[in-house]
Amino acid sequence: MQVEIDGNSGFCAGVINAIRTAEEWLGQDGHLYCLGDIVHNSEEMQRLSRMGLEVISHDQFRQLRNARVLIRAHGEPPETYRIAKENNIEIIDATCKVVLHLQQTIKEQYEQCGKETQILIFGKRGHAEVVGLVGQTAGHGLVLSSPADAANIDYSRPSHLFSQTTQNPEEYQQLIDIIREEYARRGTPGLFSYSDTICHSVVNRARQIGEFARHFDKIIFVSGEKSSNGLYLYNICKDNNPHTHLITDMAQLSQIHFDAADTVGICGATSTPMWLMQSVKQQILNP
Ligand code: SF4
Repeated sequence: MQVEIDGNSGFCAGVINAIRTAEEWLGQDGHLYCLGDIVHNSEEMQRLSRMGLEVISHDQFRQLRNARVLIRAHGEPPETYRIAKENNIEIIDATCKVVLHLQQTIKEQYEQCGKETQILIFGKRGHAEVVGLVGQTAGHGLVLSSPADAANIDYSRPSHLFSQTTQNPEEYQQLIDIIREEYARRGTPGLFSYSDTICHSVVNRARQIGEFARHFDKIIFVSGEKSSNGLYLYNICKDNNPHTHLITDMAQLSQIHFDAADTVGICGATSTPMWLMQSVKQQILNP
């Protein structure tokens, strides 16, 4: 059986940086708090937990004093930094540079335009990155989780649209078109503007992964259930190869039937570790 791992899959730069930062501190101290899962992948979380990483919730964070806490690549709202200052918490900030830039852009836009302009954020409601982005607008940003949410916009006011970095670019374009058309229909097209803020590592991977999926009899897509880009990339694989299987852990491999003559491609989300895809490959070859 021929089994190949997609060379473009594996962690993105933001996740690599966050995990490296965690490993450095864990190597030094043997323990580090992390605010939320550092990566949406339970196997990688278990590996880091064995090294001493302790994931805490925001409620636990508020109770913490005199400690050191890692902020993951998704970033955090200003409120988190304020609490850290009050409670003598040292922040190890691993916010991805791309997310940080987006946070700063949203903050500037909000401060320049004032409350009259609606800041619209296309993203998953409650997702850590989105919470951090809305925090830049003192909570005034309006989250749109699908193009259908365009109905919630107040079209009598100006608006500027941003996207969570890991959103689906096609859906984002669809949303832009809907909003633009509605402002145009009302004779106020100048009231709407938007920024292209989807991360290029997701956009590039989306372009490559469909091509990869077409070359194999079966595709095994490895991803955590909570990964936004995981679902998006999985659907691209499925559109290009109907024999695409999503697995969230190794045990699910036993439910997939492989023929000796099969060619199998393995790929994953920006939060899927390469070591896990290698283990999947070994398991397929030596069940
Ligand atoms: S997907 Fe892009 S924005 Fe998100 S953590 Fe990775 S590099 Fe950063």
